[in-house]
Amino acid sequence: MDMSTPAFVQGTKKLLIGGQWVEPASGQRIEAINPATGELLCHIAQGDAQDVERAVAAARRAFEGPWSRFTAHGRRKLLLRVHDTILDNFDELALIETLDMGAPLARTRGYKEWLSQLLQFYASQTGAGSVATSPMSIAPNFTALKHLMPVGVVGGIIPWNGPLMGSWWIYGPALATGCTAVLKPAEDASLSSLRVSELMMEAGVPDGVINVVTGYGKDVGQALAEHRGVDRVAFTGSVGTAQAIVRASAGNLKRLQLELGGKSPDIVFADADLDRAVPGASMGVFTNTGQVCVAGTRILVQRAIHDEFVQRMAAFAKTIKIGDGREPGTQIGPLISQRQLERVMHYMEIGGQEAELVHGGQRLSGNLARGFFVEPTVFANVRNDMTIAQEEIFGPVASVIPFDTVDEALQLANDTPYGLAGGVWTRNLSTAHTVSQGIRSGTVWVNCYGVIDPAVGFGGTKMSGYGWKGGKEHVESFLYPKATYINLD
Ligand code: NAP
Ligand code: MG
Repeated sequence: MDMSTPAFVQGTKKLLIGGQWVEPASGQRIEAINPATGELLCHIAQGDAQDVERAVAAARRAFEGPWSRFTAHGRRKLLLRVHDTILDNFDELALIETLDMGAPLARTRGYKEWLSQLLQFYASQTGAGSVATSPMSIAPNFTALKHLMPVGVVGGIIPWNGPLMGSWWIYGPALATGCTAVLKPAEDASLSSLRVSELMMEAGVPDGVINVVTGYGKDVGQALAEHRGVDRVAFTGSVGTAQAIVRASAGNLKRLQLELGGKSPDIVFADADLDRAVPGASMGVFTNTGQVCVAGTRILVQRAIHDEFVQRMAAFAKTIKIGDGREPGTQIGPLISQRQLERVMHYMEIGGQEAELVHGGQRLSGNLARGFFVEPTVFANVRNDMTIAQEEIFGPVASVIPFDTVDEALQLANDTPYGLAGGVWTRNLSTAHTVSQGIRSGTVWVNCYGVIDPAVGFGGTKMSGYGWKGGKEHVESFLYPKATYINLD
């Protein structure tokens, strides 16, 4: 594979508004940094509320104009064309993602088949808004038609931990349902979203159907959340930002989808197959350097195997190859930024005071000191009320918490404000069922972790937010029901 920096990664990237690549109103730009080296890659545009104004207007024009005349079949053909273009350029997209946010190529390239399935899934859903007749209960001489209508202009606000996928959780359902989108990627990692959008325009997406405004959350994100021309905001990120979006959305009561963080429990019973549970639970927290919303950061281990598990997990952590994502064999890359590095180091210090450090806890030195690298870290004998077991760290930090009984495991698992995901490792069918049903979260994995199928999807409850990504629920959340009653007399 060609590992040289793609030609796309140069100069100052523009905003995509109404099919044109335009300068931001502010004339300002933001540095795009490679977190593995700290080096400048290129610049992105610093958009603001004025650019959001233009983008929302373009999205509205497209929604009411040419895009509204696309049939379900037309949207399906378009999505399949987009699919082919994205796949043809996938190596470049994966490399851009690796350069901009640090994840190893093994991960970013590994998503090719998954993204293909995701695009095909949304292509298969373009008929979701089809009309259906409704049986009548009180008016026999009437008939009623039920349509599912596209909600309109969707603001997509996504984080930096996987923007290539993050873009598709917005574009997929928007294109399937006939909505239009204004996407705001995180300023720490916008490049893959920009390139995806450019490729989509090449594949024939009509002007204004997708728009991208890069910039800071307090400017662009806030303006999207407030804008009365935006009908729905789909957000992924932190609880605090979600609360600001809820408040800002009140003006026009816009629909919201909020996928927030977690402190997900991954529960290992003494009867589990440890040859699978140790690497599975370890990568459940260390993958993507812990910057994963569903990360299983609280590993609850039955007391009889706690010490053995911890020792095996530390041994496994030692084998993980950390480095520049471009190097073959790299399993985990850097954290996204200096800010995130400081945040994670801060929690590592707290963990060192609260609990027993068994592996890691340090920033990496030598060659890797230029980037934002930390060791995968394991704390043992953690109590669930400790800070490292309650707060989302968003770094490769595992808290291993001992428990004795199924009831205690569930009580600890649910003793968190979050409810995004959870895991169970056991050979006992009854334990697997009882515990997977008992965890209060939107997603649970049994004898695996982190698997997400586009046709099934995932989501959260409690303070992990609401709404569903993937599956028919996701598509339907971009639609609203409309009844037409017809008098047959
Ligand atoms: P964040 O502030 O919630 O950022 C997520 C997105 O929201 C970014 O595009 C951000 O823009 C934007 N944003 C920021 N302020 C906004 C506002 N007032 N109105 C509208 N949009 C706004 O999260 P973060 O600061 O990147 O990360 C902080 C912590 O959030 C992490 O350490 C982690 O705990 C959590 N997090 C969770 C997820 C997840 O997948 N659930 C993802 C990322 C972070 P800019 O960043 O460009 O300013
Ligand atoms: Mg970057």
